[in-house]
Amino acid sequence: MKSISQSTALYEKAQQVIPGGVNSPVRAFKAVGGTPLFIKSAKGAYMYDQDENTYIELINSWGPMVLGHAHPLIEEAVEKAVKNSLSFGAPCQKEVEIAELITQMVPGIEKVRMVNSGTEATMSAIRLARGFTGKDKIIKIEGCYHGHGDSFLIAAGSGAITLGQPNSPGVTKGTAQDTLSAPYNNLEAIDEVIRFNPGEIAAIIIEPVPGNMGCVLPEKAYLEGLRTLCDEHGILLVFDEVMTGFRLRKGGAQEFFGVTPDLTTLGKIIGGGMPVGAYGGKKEIMDHVAPVGPVYQAGTLSGNPVAMAAGLAMLSYLNEHPEVYSRLEEVTKKMHEGFQKNLESLGLDYTMNTVGSMHTLFFTNEPVNNFADAQKSNMELFKKYFHAMLDRGVYLPPSQFETLFLSYALTDEDIDKVIEANLDSLKAIH
Ligand code: PLP
Repeated sequence: MKSISQSTALYEKAQQVIPGGVNSPVRAFKAVGGTPLFIKSAKGAYMYDQDENTYIELINSWGPMVLGHAHPLIEEAVEKAVKNSLSFGAPCQKEVEIAELITQMVPGIEKVRMVNSGTEATMSAIRLARGFTGKDKIIKIEGCYHGHGDSFLIAAGSGAITLGQPNSPGVTKGTAQDTLSAPYNNLEAIDEVIRFNPGEIAAIIIEPVPGNMGCVLPEKAYLEGLRTLCDEHGILLVFDEVMTGFRLRKGGAQEFFGVTPDLTTLGKIIGGGMPVGAYGGKKEIMDHVAPVGPVYQAGTLSGNPVAMAAGLAMLSYLNEHPEVYSRLEEVTKKMHEGFQKNLESLGLDYTMNTVGSMHTLFFTNEPVNNFADAQKSNMELFKKYFHAMLDRGVYLPPSQFETLFLSYALTDEDIDKVIEANLDSLKAIH
């Protein structure tokens, strides 16, 4: 067992002054038990806690650090930007450059507005969809998570479901009534919701590849089917690519699957590790946003020059280095195959969903194609697995309803260590 006395002491103090001792719920390890680790530093594929323990990183700040931690190009860009003041609250060159780059990289984006988080991006996109269509209701998919905006805390995934709070107190009945939901990978269910609410639906918002019920893949023709339904009924299709954007491909899931949404929300990788989000789409829709159009949305720190410098460095690198994506797929495939061999050799029930550099191991032998399937996974076994891996120096998301995010910094030797830790952990828990 590793010594985590420093983390334990910090956690005790933190709980006195921060709700649950953390600034975002899943970090508290509530679903898996135990003490969250307080991190002191991270470099490349490795993270170091306050007690100087070392971990191989398979979360990467929940996605943003796709090139690994402390990438020199991003650090340099930030150091340079900091010298010119931390914030202007006025337009700056880097905002234009990053917007131009995003419109080149993401097929569905002709114009884009920068915000400060994924939550802001989705909240703003839905307001815009309502303002543009003149309709109030939205359809969201059960187990998808779109941040903590009121409209989305209905059948929500990620931390909300990890803590058993898919619907949050504090969301008014009125708001909740305007969010309709349907299971993932089920076009008939969506069709039915549309038919029961004729002419009332502004948008369907979806994670094209959900990572917030664990990683789940779209069945063949599901995303195309959504596109068709939206076109037939005058509904906007919103892809929440906060996780998948710049991760599955440089143009996100929409490039990967060849389906173009009307609006796209972005976060995580777009800021290179700084707090950044964005929403964008077709010009005629985006031109409904203030100051051109009537849909209001603003932000004191939006387009912050330091954050833009980090994001621009990250996106430029990804745009110019397509080999990042083939390498990410290669390491993830290697890990998947290693785990598969281990699981088979021990005769354990499992399902693994893997796409690009996203991956979830579910302890069930049934396919996991939606949120109800994900819930059938053996949570007790997951808890033990999580701690067994952590003891062996592998940092996984502390919830079954999350995805791993691998980084470009991982070497083949790192993956060999992860596969070995997986085998030892499975042997220890089954
Ligand atoms: N949308 C998706 C798909 C997410 O995974 C998340 C966060 O994990 C969000 C939106 C919210 O982003 P943020 O945490 O930056 O507010």
